[in-house]
Amino acid sequence: MELSGDQLWERIQDGVRPHLPPHAFTTWVASAKASALTDEELVLEVRNPFHVEWLEDKYGPLLERTGSDVLGRPLKIRVCCASPEDSGPVPALELGVPRPAIEGGPGTGSSLDASLERSSFDSSGRPLSNRPQSSGARPGDPAPALFGRYTFERFVVGGNNQLAVAAARAVADKPGRMYNPLFLYGGVGLGKTHLMHAIGHALVGDDAARRVAYLSSEQFTNELVGAIRRGDTAAFRGRYREMDLLMVDDVHFLQGKESTQEEFFHTFNALYDSQRQIVVTSDRPPQDMDGLEKRLVSRFEWGLVVDLRPPDFETRMAILRKKADDEGLVLEDAVIECIANACTSSVRELEGAVLKLLAVSSVWNQEISPDFARRVLALRRREQQPREPIASPDRIKECIAGSWRVRIEALVSKTRTRNVTEARHVAMYAIREILGMPLAEIGNLFGGRDHSTVLYSIRKVEGRMEEDDRFRERVEVVMRELRDRDSAFHT
Ligand code: ADP
Ligand code: MG
Repeated sequence: MELSGDQLWERIQDGVRPHLPPHAFTTWVASAKASALTDEELVLEVRNPFHVEWLEDKYGPLLERTGSDVLGRPLKIRVCCASPEDSGPVPALELGVPRPAIEGGPGTGSSLDASLERSSFDSSGRPLSNRPQSSGARPGDPAPALFGRYTFERFVVGGNNQLAVAAARAVADKPGRMYNPLFLYGGVGLGKTHLMHAIGHALVGDDAARRVAYLSSEQFTNELVGAIRRGDTAAFRGRYREMDLLMVDDVHFLQGKESTQEEFFHTFNALYDSQRQIVVTSDRPPQDMDGLEKRLVSRFEWGLVVDLRPPDFETRMAILRKKADDEGLVLEDAVIECIANACTSSVRELEGAVLKLLAVSSVWNQEISPDFARRVLALRRREQQPREPIASPDRIKECIAGSWRVRIEALVSKTRTRNVTEARHVAMYAIREILGMPLAEIGNLFGGRDHSTVLYSIRKVEGRMEEDDRFRERVEVVMRELRDRDSAFHT
């Protein structure tokens, strides 16, 4: 008797149901769909990459055993992501190449979604994140990506982000005209990247010919360095200057990177002059960025600067309800309230808590009751107590002096031999990176040098790390060691 994929999957579900707690069964197993069946293999589709891992890791063997029993021969089970929507980064947009409009009548969804559908998955359903995307993209070009699910529709508006959302929508409606640049800032996990991508989606949704580029500051820097190496900076410039929307995420990472800032400045001006839209995000407002050129700071201030704050209780509840709905989870109100009470710092923390609850409830075979949620979240909090960095400036100096074979006192002295100077610069860099101390204080630790000297030294190190692989390797080795020591005290 031959079974179809669906029939086989139903039989397998019947077989495993008695062995799993109902909640785990509904969340992880029943929500998966059979997508293909061959002689040896049943392919299941689920909604997101986390689910893929979970199903394979925790239930894979049980499912395979049950399936083999049903069929009377060995069966492998493979799980993949079904919907491009939820599969994390996908190469939605290309640099410098206008995307052709996608045909389809009204009501077929945005052309962006349609193009995601077509282009982003290979036959096994895995996202094609690293493929060159078209003849327009050269090999080695990074794949700029918009996250499929980072749309306005999925962004919950609350008192903490109202202004930012209004600004983002205005920019999406009239790019290049109202607020240019739009500068979004705020702590980690508060929705900066999400909102930025939402603007990109809205723009391309309105007009698929629009050219949109999304880059992390790191990508921007790396590409520039690559272009310089290839002697190809003109093409680099040309590419970004033709964008209708340029989004650069986390620009605080440009601090101290002079040549990148210089290039960004020129790109910025070119885009600005031709009324193209620029959106940037950062973890702090422009005026608080040390190590960023004044003229770049003032460009950022030309436009609109808005912050995102941690969500208040009401907004946390609303976000959790929406996440649960979107993921097809059933969570009681009392449980949602309990999470909203326990996680106050960011939206990312809220999401993490939900995943943790799901995971633990599966492992312990327990339903998610409010009491269960409280216990799990209390545990989680204890795991996440903020760790005071323990590496002191002295320990950092000692470690670097040792590695560069100079005396500790030499680091503080006026000695300018090459090796000592290098060690001194690296020590300043390490103290800044690991302890985040203000520049002036670092100067005091090195015989009263002033903050611009410290900044210069740190930039030197960063510059050389970009150019000289062996030097970078050497610095990274000590940094790792210092950070390890740092954590060794806590575990
Ligand atoms: P940031 O870039 O500020 O560090 P992200 O944009 O990456 O933060 O957001 C972290 C996570 O929280 C993402 O999964 C995002 O979708 C979600 N998120 C943040 N703010 C909201 C919101 N207001 N509504 C819904 N989801 C949100
Ligand atoms: Mg971000």
